[in-house]
Amino acid sequence: MMPKTIHLSGIRLHWVQVPLHEPFKISNGEVSVKDAILVELSGADGTVGWGEASPMGGSFYSSETPDSTWEFLVCTAVPGLLERPLPAADKCFDWISQFPGEPFAKAGVEGAVWDFWANQAGVPLYQMLGGSRRPVPSGAAIGLMPTIDQLLDRVDTFLRQGYRRIKIKIMPGHDVELVRAVRKRFDDIPLMVDANAAYRLEDAAIFEELDSCGLMMFEQPLGRKALAEHAELQRRLQTPICLDESAEDLESIATAIRLGGAKIINIKVQRMGGLAPAKQAHDAAQAAGIPCWMGTMPELGVASAQALHLATLGNFAFPTDVEASARWFKDDIIEPLIEISGEGFIQLPEGAGMGYKVNMEKVERYRIRFEEFLP
Ligand SMILES: [Mg+2]
Repeated sequence: MMPKTIHLSGIRLHWVQVPLHEPFKISNGEVSVKDAILVELSGADGTVGWGEASPMGGSFYSSETPDSTWEFLVCTAVPGLLERPLPAADKCFDWISQFPGEPFAKAGVEGAVWDFWANQAGVPLYQMLGGSRRPVPSGAAIGLMPTIDQLLDRVDTFLRQGYRRIKIKIMPGHDVELVRAVRKRFDDIPLMVDANAAYRLEDAAIFEELDSCGLMMFEQPLGRKALAEHAELQRRLQTPICLDESAEDLESIATAIRLGGAKIINIKVQRMGGLAPAKQAHDAAQAAGIPCWMGTMPELGVASAQALHLATLGNFAFPTDVEASARWFKDDIIEPLIEISGEGFIQLPEGAGMGYKVNMEKVERYRIRFEEFLP
């Protein structure tokens, strides 16, 4: 893409922990801070590029942890990047794929390389990714609440903030009743459910019951590996099934499309290992006539902003899970913060790269570990 040869003059890693408004509940405890490792690339000409490797603490979503991510960055990715010419943005994933595993760390490096080249060229990131300047519709995701009244209050709050669709989590024993209650009070809102892989094909009757509730989609009803079972379930339902956990890499997405188990796909940049593979997933879905939307793990501002740039591509047809910075985090390390308009859209700021600026004072305030590498 870029014919120039550039060697980096330095890479800095900043491990930050930003406090959450409320703890994430996980099977083995709670997480009250959001961990992220920021990757800062510097070129001799003063160009910088920022990326964010954003695994959740406590093995919440994945086997990768902040520690394993840090180790991969320090021992493998950073030395590798310093000793070779900087790869073109769309070639970085090919280079870093030679190393196994660690998609979060790879996404952090890869995002920084995209941001670097976009800053170098003085163009917005979405332009380099093939997207267009358009506001990105945002939806709110609501976890399992202690009571139905609290769930309804949450739905009400997020609708008032402008979010363009509501997603509620369901699990066996807490499904039809929740959806009915939300539908009774908010009869025509764009609504979907996320089962986080909690059901088996034998539970099909639950989804057959939910099928008449006018939902936008059923997100990941069955297990991560249950691609054929999702196809079987979809044959019994009108409501489209959206794969999330199953859409873990390009191979799984291709298989799911071939089997017919995905009418919609939730693409997550961190899980895919970067913007280029996430774009490839988007393109593969588009070629198969399958719309997708941009998910989140969720991430801090740098990774969220970069995902939003990619979400301007045409086949991202449903609202993103990327919410306002203030939704989860007591603070964020970018300026301006990500905000939702009253109509439920996120408008990317003008400017080169991701448009948002990293606030170094905040990075230093929330930083728990730092390392600088020189060639
Ligand atoms: Mg999900």
